[in-house]
Amino acid sequence: MARTHLARFSPTFSAPRRTSFPSRSQVERACKTSWLRAGEISIAAGWTELRDQENPFMARAIALSIENVRSGNGGPFAAVVVKDGEIIAQGVNQVTSTNDPTAHAEVIAIREACKRLADFELKDCELYTTCEPCPMCLGAIYWARPARVYFANTAEDASKIGFDDTLIYKEAARPHSERKIPMIPLMREQALEAFRAWEEKGDKTPY
Ligand SMILES: [Zn+2]
Repeated sequence: MARTHLARFSPTFSAPRRTSFPSRSQVERACKTSWLRAGEISIAAGWTELRDQENPFMARAIALSIENVRSGNGGPFAAVVVKDGEIIAQGVNQVTSTNDPTAHAEVIAIREACKRLADFELKDCELYTTCEPCPMCLGAIYWARPARVYFANTAEDASKIGFDDTLIYKEAARPHSERKIPMIPLMREQALEAFRAWEEKGDKTPY
């Protein structure tokens, strides 16, 4: 990993400000904004009745996750990205319906949010996900750098219904050659040419 990535992590991750939960009417307004276009997941998936102390953003994500199961669209996962008290993007798991193993709810929500903000960082954003992120989504979250992440179901809950991420965590800790999917070094000298070009480029956009 390039040094610039790591160096930029600490200043970007400033202490998050305390956020108070928005009112239900604020969230309902946010959900009716134009990004929720026809053909996307219907807002009719809608609200479960919010009880006091429930977070409306997480409630929205949970409603989407339940609808995603009912519709047969994908796994029981959803996520929303919130900025300034407004939902700016949402994602549901679409692995099986799009034949895309990377189509996890968090990745889709992050992509949507970044597109909407026209930025490759989710600065000052919050991610609400219905389940503790898998290693892939955790990586995407660290690249996107939101201020914080809220999760509902735990990784253990997911494991109990057949979504077990522990294999990936274990694999990451093993030497390349001992992994179930072998990682084989090849043509490093030639590939370093791109890194040298990057280091020498004066007008690059670091990220
Ligand atoms: Zn994931």
